[in-house]
Amino acid sequence: MKKATQLIHAGRGKEWTGSAVNPPVVRASTIVFDTMAELKHATAHRGDRVPYYGRRGTATHFALQDAICDLEGSAGCALYPCGAAAINAALLSFLKQGDHLLMVDTAYEPTRAICDKLLAGLGIETTYYDPLIGAGISALIKANTKVIFLESPGSLTMELQDIPAISAVAKAHHIVLMLDNTWGTPVLLDAYGLGVDVCIQSATKYIVGHSDAMLGIATANEKYWPQLREYSYLMGYCASADDAYLASRGLRTLKVRLAQHQTNAFTIAKWLQQRPEVETVRHPALPENPGHQIFQRDFHGSNGLFSFVLKQGDAKAVAAFIEGMQHFKMGFSWGGYESLIIPNFSIQKLRTASPWPYSGPLIRLHIGLEDTEDLIADLAAAFERFHQAL
Ligand SMILES: *Cc1c(COP(=O)(O)O)cnc(C)c1O
Repeated sequence: MKKATQLIHAGRGKEWTGSAVNPPVVRASTIVFDTMAELKHATAHRGDRVPYYGRRGTATHFALQDAICDLEGSAGCALYPCGAAAINAALLSFLKQGDHLLMVDTAYEPTRAICDKLLAGLGIETTYYDPLIGAGISALIKANTKVIFLESPGSLTMELQDIPAISAVAKAHHIVLMLDNTWGTPVLLDAYGLGVDVCIQSATKYIVGHSDAMLGIATANEKYWPQLREYSYLMGYCASADDAYLASRGLRTLKVRLAQHQTNAFTIAKWLQQRPEVETVRHPALPENPGHQIFQRDFHGSNGLFSFVLKQGDAKAVAAFIEGMQHFKMGFSWGGYESLIIPNFSIQKLRTASPWPYSGPLIRLHIGLEDTEDLIADLAAAFERFHQAL
């Protein structure tokens, strides 16, 4: 079945939806049983999409979990209150005191903070590695290396990682390979086909897709699912039925939304490339983006998120650029239907294992579903204000 068709059917089994098209929102803490036999059955199958207790989920959660496993080819899916929770739960499910973690240098900033604060405090050592390291990662493996964590493309700076090459090294050393696949989603990247063991997403972004819910997802293959499920459960992680419903709903339009985000963002990336103020545009689908060949080999397209670096500009000039925007709103997050803009002045401070050759400010854009003519006019006016403030 093709992805577009799969997205329509995934997780809509009769056992979850009844006679409706969509699964109902089942809010529950307590599940009640009529007989001892039912209680016994639920107990034996708890954690296996059988109603048992609210923390284990209801039909609304099971429908979403089914859908994600279907789309990814994963063996099991755990839900979390947000993506950051999914990241730390996945890490803590497979790391203990004395273990070593290899973390990509271009990880989402809060992921880095999890390593430097939470994991370091538990006696878990992190080594950051260059996102372009590929098979060279074998030189960084130690006897106690238990997890290699990837994020591709890298947060803010968009370097692509050679997942199959790193997977081969991880498999040879029995190391768990985790990927933050928030950018790719199951539509743009086949994480399990490329050799990932544990796949994490902030469903807050494209899956929910409308900037109105927080939700995290972590899935695993057959080998690692029992441990991910058990540890996530022990840590008490669960998500609300309402948010799980919104994620299932978002899946139905994920592919068409991504296609339009891709078209709009690529148009604007090309326009920005022509601007004299722009040092470089970081967009995986541009040939000059680091790891572009990997993007062409592994990805089925791009989305609305990319960055560009200005040749110059202090905080005042960047404020003039951003503050008068009509359509772009300034804010964190991305993946909703709307365009967003956020500046960053200190990329070099966010990385320790790979060089950043630019000194100008970086601006990250999320290109929404507006008409690109309006968005370009908005950006052109921003460059005017920028010049006046320089
Ligand atoms: C937003 C984001 C997260 C965190 O997700 P939340 O749902 O906001 O907790 C993790 N990874 C990446 C790449 C993100 O962009």
